[in-house]
Amino acid sequence: MEWLTMRTDDGQIPLSREEIGDFSFRGARLPLVDRMRGIWRPAGWAATLSVLTKYTPPDKKPPYNDEVGEDGLIRYAWMGEDGNHANNVGLRNAMETRSPVIWFVGVSAQPVPRYNVVCPVYVVGEEWHNKRFILMPVTMDDAPPVEIGSAMEHGFRELEKRYIRRSVKQRLHQPRFRSEVLLAYENHCAICNLAHSPLLDAAHIVPDRDEAGVAQVSNGMAMCKIHHAAFDGYFLGIRPGRAGSNELRVEIRQDLLAEVDGPMLRHGLQELHGRDLMKIPRQRAARPDRALLERAYESFRAASVDDADPGILGTATSRD
Ligand SMILES: [Zn+2]
Repeated sequence: MEWLTMRTDDGQIPLSREEIGDFSFRGARLPLVDRMRGIWRPAGWAATLSVLTKYTPPDKKPPYNDEVGEDGLIRYAWMGEDGNHANNVGLRNAMETRSPVIWFVGVSAQPVPRYNVVCPVYVVGEEWHNKRFILMPVTMDDAPPVEIGSAMEHGFRELEKRYIRRSVKQRLHQPRFRSEVLLAYENHCAICNLAHSPLLDAAHIVPDRDEAGVAQVSNGMAMCKIHHAAFDGYFLGIRPGRAGSNELRVEIRQDLLAEVDGPMLRHGLQELHGRDLMKIPRQRAARPDRALLERAYESFRAASVDDADPGILGTATSRD
């Protein structure tokens, strides 16, 4: 697990199967995933070592009923229909012995499949009627959630619910959102094209505190740190073009255009005014959702100090 934590910068960097295959234990190569199947129990192991969820493109429905339940915990479908299949027994053993499991979460299919690593994950319950297990990701430092079993029967207290929501968000949703968005933009800032992933974020178009601000790739854009902060702070807006067009244009807040300062302001912001985005995803379904962009652009306009001029775009602006 430490190897994975290091290799992925604590779950931030997605791995290909080839990279996952590099793992060895006590001098021998130990596959961490099965070639064909989602649930992997190496020979001689009582408990499952890893489970894998394939990537589902944004415009497709996931093939299995892996989802997050109302309690915030993750549901992972049995393998097949038979609860006593060796792989399902392996997961049950992991539950009984409270053994941690590694979860590989697919975040892209092209050019090669890549997976985020969520570990440790504990199997904390099973729903026989729905033929699925209940998984819970925790942070490396947290103890296994031993009390979950009884809590599942008696219902969760508010504090526990909050803990579950937070850990699922931190361990699963946020890293998955980041990986999907960065891969869709091929590790480039949408605004300036910068291509160094440590300097890139997955920005929400509509913030996640907003109900519409879902952690889906169509509500995300890869941006470098400075452009992400500028976008969130309404220094910079993105104006969607006419309906049906792919036009997405950068706007810099009016008062900033008149300011005189160093090269960051000049090249990093002012000169981008009126320019098209430099990077958008090849895959149509991964591109920014128009309704979300319009909403974000409205907020940008409302926050602009000088909101009087409706035609900033194309207007010659003095920048000396
Ligand atoms: Zn940038």
